[in-house]
Amino acid sequence: MKIYNTLSKKKEDFEPINPGKVSMYVCGPTVYNLIHIGNARPMIVFDTVRRYMEYKGYDVNYVSNFTDVDDKIIKKANEEGVDSSVISARYIEECKKDMKALNVKTATTHPLATNEIGGMLEMIETLLEKDHAYVASDGTVYFKTRSFKEYGKLSHKNLDDLRGGNRSLLVSGEDQKEDALDFVLWKPKKEGEPYWESPWCNGRPGWHIECSVMSKKYLGDEIDIHAGGEDLIFPHHENEIAQSEAANGKQFAKYWMHNGFLNIDNKKMSKSAGNFFTVRDISEKYDLQVLRFFMLSAHYRSPLNFSEELMEAAKNGYERIVTCVSNLNFLIEKVEKDGGQEDVSVEETAYIEEAKTYIEKFEEAMNDDFNTADAISSIFELVKFTNTKASEKSSKEFLTALKDEIVMLSDICGLIVAKEAEILDDEIEALIQERQDARKAKNFARADEIRDNLLKQGIILEDTREGVKWKRA
Ligand code: AMP
Ligand code: ZN
Repeated sequence: MKIYNTLSKKKEDFEPINPGKVSMYVCGPTVYNLIHIGNARPMIVFDTVRRYMEYKGYDVNYVSNFTDVDDKIIKKANEEGVDSSVISARYIEECKKDMKALNVKTATTHPLATNEIGGMLEMIETLLEKDHAYVASDGTVYFKTRSFKEYGKLSHKNLDDLRGGNRSLLVSGEDQKEDALDFVLWKPKKEGEPYWESPWCNGRPGWHIECSVMSKKYLGDEIDIHAGGEDLIFPHHENEIAQSEAANGKQFAKYWMHNGFLNIDNKKMSKSAGNFFTVRDISEKYDLQVLRFFMLSAHYRSPLNFSEELMEAAKNGYERIVTCVSNLNFLIEKVEKDGGQEDVSVEETAYIEEAKTYIEKFEEAMNDDFNTADAISSIFELVKFTNTKASEKSSKEFLTALKDEIVMLSDICGLIVAKEAEILDDEIEALIQERQDARKAKNFARADEIRDNLLKQGIILEDTREGVKWKRA
């Protein structure tokens, strides 16, 4: 398996630090609003990387944080006249709903920055002891960038170029710095801001130290993969490397992965530019599986321009797979009912073997730095093959083998293609009535069975004084 490593600017063979295990940290969103579809790109892309690793048999420890203390959260909290924890808790909840709808797996751990302040104080203390940081007169703690000799190795920037070339770094307004390149580890509180006590001042952490500390706590000093959008390469990830490697004395992450931007009219989609669609906006028009399909139909490192046409193309593509699976389900049911061909034929056995070549193609694409666009093409080829080979005359075993293969490959991409038929309200009412009748007839086993079956389909029954009420989970 090859991964493009931003650190070396090359595709490298993936060799985990511990055989069979993968430790992965993905920088998560700042929670002050509903997430936009640009934020959803790294979630979908790196969830797919995780799923593929798991398919290949790795035990993946996947950590993705929520940045829950930040200027923008505080600003929103002040506007609403509530505590900033109210804002972050609200949008973490909403973000989790979006992730679920996008079929993004829950991380092994979703740490919150505000729960990890103790670790941040410790790491800052270590950096001060090792003379990689200093305290300014107002209590701000800065990282001494020049003390970390390899600074710039991820973004391939040269320290002197940075100093001379990027004027904005020099006129930052933070004149307590000894050097324009130094960055904040801890800053004093301002009026109305959340704060924590520290040896230097009551205040709060800088953004970069949060990820260094959460990664260390949940994954250790050395991890396999650190990932995020390409806007994070500099300064966020460069600063994370400086802090972690200076404090821990070990290489922080072996592989650095960065997704390209999701653009709109060829400009980066962002909240500050106001050119964004939230995941919620898109869900009003499309099944979010279509959005997932859209994101994976491009290589994760390429820029991707959002447009109505591309979403429609994604919808067609996704539906082609769903329709194929639904036809297979229909044929399987029919063969079951009509007692079609009993055993798998010699010809079908050969076809099943032939179908496996699409798995190989899929893996080849994914092994080449997660080329999901080509991987999806191999699913399409399998769909085409299925549409020509499956029929009412096929054996159940053959149909099921094709279906399982399509569902398995789609599932690695996190695409749900085997749709459960949704139970209709009328059917629910009829089953509730049947359950009442069964209870009257003291057939409690049947009554319980109905309740359990409904529960499996996400229908919760409540026995109340006014009768039985139901709701969808
Ligand atoms: P933020 O909430 O801005 O810290 O972003 C959370 C994650 O979304 C980071 O990994 C960003 O790099 C990523 N991200 C933000 N905007 C975009 C975009 N337009 N395209 C791709 N990734 C993005
Ligand atoms: Zn981060």
